[in-house]
Amino acid sequence: MSRRSSLAHLLPELVRTLFARRATVRFPSEPPVLAEAYRGRGVVHAELCVGCGLCVRDCPAFALELEREGRHRFRLVHFEDRCAYCGQCVDSCRQDAIALVSEFPRASPCRTAFTRVLVTHEASEE
Ligand code: SF4
Ligand code: SF4
Repeated sequence: MSRRSSLAHLLPELVRTLFARRATVRFPSEPPVLAEAYRGRGVVHAELCVGCGLCVRDCPAFALELEREGRHRFRLVHFEDRCAYCGQCVDSCRQDAIALVSEFPRASPCRTAFTRVLVTHEASEE
């Protein structure tokens, strides 16, 4: 291909590309637009959670932990750095207490930033 015909071929493409809409997102300068069904951060409706531990039992990534202090005192902890965001915990919960929402943890060099207490249940009936 001669130099002249190469330019004739490339110039329209260059102009088209210069004025085309951007195909990528500006994350992290701007927040990303996530789909409503995006499986991100775990949240628990504390009033529905009974501390049964079914979500912990079924989690394939060992990303949930139930810390018990007596029958009615417990904490449900989520380790986001282990989580596969598979949604098994949501399916396993019989109380519909746990959900994965369209938010995601931001990057951090500190592992503890990915440990979140989802529920602290302090009610004591002992
Ligand atoms: S989404 Fe999957 S990997 Fe993450 S806590 Fe729930 S069951 Fe475990
Ligand atoms: S989130 Fe659901 S499955 Fe997990 S401990 Fe609470 S009630 Fe049980």
